Amino acid sequence: MLKIVLISTYEMGRQPFGLASPAAWLRADGHEVTCVDLACSPLPRASVAEADLVAFYLPMHTATRLAVNVIEKVRALNPRVQLCCFGLYAPMNEPYLRELGIHAILGGEFEQGLLDLAGRLGRGSNGQPPLISLDRQQFLTPDRAGLPSLTRYAKLLVNGEERIAGYTEASRGCKHLCRHCPVVPVYNGVFRVVERKVVLEDIRQQVAAGAQHITFGDPDFFNGPGHAAAIVESLHAEHPSITYDVTIKIEHLLRHRELLPVLKRTGCLFVTSAAESIEDAVLEKLAKGHTRADFVEAVRIVRESGLTLAPTLVTFTPWTTWDGYRELLQLLVDLDLVENVGPIQLAMRLLIPAGSRLLELPEIRELAGPFDPAALSHQWRHRDPKLDQLCADIQKLIQHEERRKATRSEIFGRIWELANGRPPDFQLASRATIPYLNEPWYC
Ligand code: SF4
Repeated sequence: MLKIVLISTYEMGRQPFGLASPAAWLRADGHEVTCVDLACSPLPRASVAEADLVAFYLPMHTATRLAVNVIEKVRALNPRVQLCCFGLYAPMNEPYLRELGIHAILGGEFEQGLLDLAGRLGRGSNGQPPLISLDRQQFLTPDRAGLPSLTRYAKLLVNGEERIAGYTEASRGCKHLCRHCPVVPVYNGVFRVVERKVVLEDIRQQVAAGAQHITFGDPDFFNGPGHAAAIVESLHAEHPSITYDVTIKIEHLLRHRELLPVLKRTGCLFVTSAAESIEDAVLEKLAKGHTRADFVEAVRIVRESGLTLAPTLVTFTPWTTWDGYRELLQLLVDLDLVENVGPIQLAMRLLIPAGSRLLELPEIRELAGPFDPAALSHQWRHRDPKLDQLCADIQKLIQHEERRKATRSEIFGRIWELANGRPPDFQLASRATIPYLNEPWYC
């Protein structure tokens, strides 16, 4: 049996499901597995030096960039080790990862692939399981042994109180094909559910470990609305004091609006939703499946149901204009959403990863440079360099203001001033009642 080290570099302040789930599969097969979350702990040099296989979990862009440096360190510590990258960003960056010396790359439903890889290595064979597998899997309850305690991760902030947050996934992939979305090049319109009993057992073990709130990390919780509703009903019946949050696209919020009271009744505190833009022309380019009017309607119905909407945005795109940016800020004020939006959302720049459907658009192909391995994306510049500068200035401002613990309203006021050249002529009140997780969002 193999000695395996599973490494996560960053998962947005969450205890990594992407380590705990494959750890359960590999341990059940008799392998000795060490889970390492480098966001909380140092690289265990001794375990790495002795390992037969080191596998990096790459669920997102930042995690992948961070992993690049660690891969070199691991190779230096253990030159004979087999290296694997798995998760959403692994197959997208296959050529680059191979150049870095990665032997096996697994995307999509990766647990079976990791198990097969370990089996092959144990038999002395080196073959690569399929690059992307969308085969349905019988999930096992994630094995969280050896991961840092939940208290080390992002907390839920609500009403001036901090609550310990856990994290699970009830589905992966997505049935939609939004052009800018990193899920699409891998899942291509397919989603896969994690069995209800597995999700509930995972929640049960995290509640036993102190979780008071659960984040469902599904790309879209309402891809399978029946599955989602059954899970939250059971969750609430078993743990009536546990709250949770979910991510649901605007289109699904409108289509399944009858389920919003169910979310509210079962302990949902907030719904993250990828609004992305308030301009219909941009939403069409991104193939988001909703309009500005839909967004405004979603704000209304979510609020009416007693839930908080946390919109996410792609604020700086090749189509962004000064007027459009200022109008976005104004709309957030008009809709009373200033406190609902994480400041980093106001400085998000469109990312064009390898294989992105954005490259279908002639204007993007024209603007985007070749794939840049250092940035793990195709770089682009706005035709108006002052808008690129505005984005950079806002990013710097947010970092500075967050270090000095400024409120979201205070940061918004400073951003408004940068974008409009004058301070806001209205008062923004901070609201401790808006719940959010205290980890800024980096994709
Ligand atoms: S709905 Fe969300 S997860 Fe699905 S493709 Fe669109 S952006 Fe991606």
